[in-house]
Amino acid sequence: MMAEMRLHFLGATRTVTGSQYLLETDRARVLIDCGMFQGSPNDVIRNRVPFAYQPGEIDALLLTHAHLDHCGLIPHLSASGFRKPIYATTGTLDLTRLVLLDSAKLQEEFAQSHQRFARRNPDRAAAEDEATTAELAAATKEDPAAATRDASPAAITALRAPLYTVDDTNAALALFHGIDYGAEIQVAPGIMATLLDAGHILGSAIIRVRVREGDQERTIVFSGDLGRPGSPIIRDPTPVTSADWLLIESTYGGKTHEPQEEAIRLLGEAVKLTGDAKGVLLMPSFAIGRTQEIVYELNRLLTAGTIPHLPLYLDSPMATKASDVYRAHLDYFDDDTRALIAQHDAPIDYPDAIVTSSPKESLAIEQAARPLMVVASNGMITGGRIVQHVKALVGDPGMTLLFVGYQGDGTLGASLQQGAKQVRIDGQDLEVHCQVRSISGFSAHADEPELLAWLGNFTSKPRTTFIVHGDPDAQAAFEPKVRALGFATAVPSWRETVELT
Ligand SMILES: [Zn+2]
Repeated sequence: MMAEMRLHFLGATRTVTGSQYLLETDRARVLIDCGMFQGSPNDVIRNRVPFAYQPGEIDALLLTHAHLDHCGLIPHLSASGFRKPIYATTGTLDLTRLVLLDSAKLQEEFAQSHQRFARRNPDRAAAEDEATTAELAAATKEDPAAATRDASPAAITALRAPLYTVDDTNAALALFHGIDYGAEIQVAPGIMATLLDAGHILGSAIIRVRVREGDQERTIVFSGDLGRPGSPIIRDPTPVTSADWLLIESTYGGKTHEPQEEAIRLLGEAVKLTGDAKGVLLMPSFAIGRTQEIVYELNRLLTAGTIPHLPLYLDSPMATKASDVYRAHLDYFDDDTRALIAQHDAPIDYPDAIVTSSPKESLAIEQAARPLMVVASNGMITGGRIVQHVKALVGDPGMTLLFVGYQGDGTLGASLQQGAKQVRIDGQDLEVHCQVRSISGFSAHADEPELLAWLGNFTSKPRTTFIVHGDPDAQAAFEPKVRALGFATAVPSWRETVELT
C-alpha cells in the first residue's frame, strides 16, 4: 500500500510569481521552490502572509533556478526556522547567492526609507499601514487554514521591517548544497530527487521526485520554468517521458513567440535605426539570462557585420556578476557556444562594452554622446536602474524603448508596452513620446507550441497534469490544448491541497 501523499500549491497558481510547492508524505516534507511574489501589489502582499506550514518541520528544499520568483523567500524561510539542506545545481546556487543578497539589500533600503517616511508623516503612514493590514487580512482569508491561526498580528508588526536582512540571507546561504544534473540523491526519508536541465537560465532544472514506500514508487515531475529549444548559450530542455503527476508552467499559454531568427532581425533593425537617428536604445532586461542572451546576439550581429558598433552600456551590477557566474560554468553551455569559445571568441561579451558600477555612472549615461545602447535591469521596470532611465527618457522621441522580455500584468512595463500615453513614476505624471517596440522571440520560456511539444515526449500520461505558473488567460488558453493531447488536467488555486492517490 502506498502511503498517503499530498501536494500543497503555495504559489505560482493563476499567476507567474511566488513559485512554491510542498510535497508531504507520512514521513517527510519537501519544498520545491520558495519564490517571491512580484508584480502587482495584490500579489506582493502575499509575501507577508505567514508560511502555510512550520518551516522547522521541512526536511529539504529543492530549488529549480535562481530567479527571484522561485528563490526569493528562502532567507525568510530560514529566518523562520528552516535549517535543512537546500539542493540545486551549483550554477543555480552561485546565481541565487547574488539574487538573494541583492534582494536583502533592497529590502533593508526600502524598510529604512519607509521608516523615515513614517517618522515624518505619522498620520499618512498609519493610514497606509491600515490599508496594507486590510489587504493582508484579505489575502490571508483566501486560505481557510491560515485564517484560523493567529497569523495577522505578527505580520502586521512586521510591515515596516524588511522581509529579511543581509544577515538572514547569509545564514540561508550556509544551507546550500550543490548537486549535478542527472545524479539522483535522497533528500528526505523515502524521497529521491534528480535535476534535469530545463534550458531556461544557467543552472535551471526540471525536478523529478521519486517517492518510495516499501516496493511502491511514485514519480512527480516539476517542470520549473522551461526554456526554448535552440536558445543560445545554454542547452535545450530535457525531454521527460513519464511521471505519475506533472506540474507544468504555462507562462506563454495561448502564445506563439516569433521565431528566434525574426527576434534577432528585429534587434538588429532597432540597433541600425538607433544608429541612423543618433538616438538611445534602452532595453529593460532581466539581469540573469536575458542580459547574457542579448549581449550574445549583439556580439553575433556585430561579428557578422549586420549592425554598426554602437557603444553598449551594461547598467546592472547584478547582470555583470551574473555574467561572471556564466563564465565560470562553461560546462553548462551548449555545443555551439563551446565551439565559439574554442575558436577564442568571447560569446557572452560585447567589444568595448561599458560596465557601470556606481549610480552616478548610471545617471551619466543619459548625458553621454549618442547614439548609444543601454541594457539595464529589471526587465519589467518595477525597480532597479531602468526606472530612472525610463523616467528621464520616456518623453524623448529620440529614445527607443525595446522590450525583450515578458511584461507581467499590472507592471509599468506592461502599460508602456500596451501603448500608455502617460505613466506615473515616483509620483510624477510623465507623457510618453519615446518609441516603444517589443520583441517576443527572446523569451527564456517555451511558448505554447514548445510546451505542447515537450509534453509530447511523454510516452505514458500522468494521472494529473497540474497547470501552474501562468496568468489566468494563459492558463485558460493552454488547458484545453493539453487535454486534447490526452492529459487529465487541473488548474490549482492558491494554497490548494491535492491528495496524490
Ligand atoms: Zn525563471
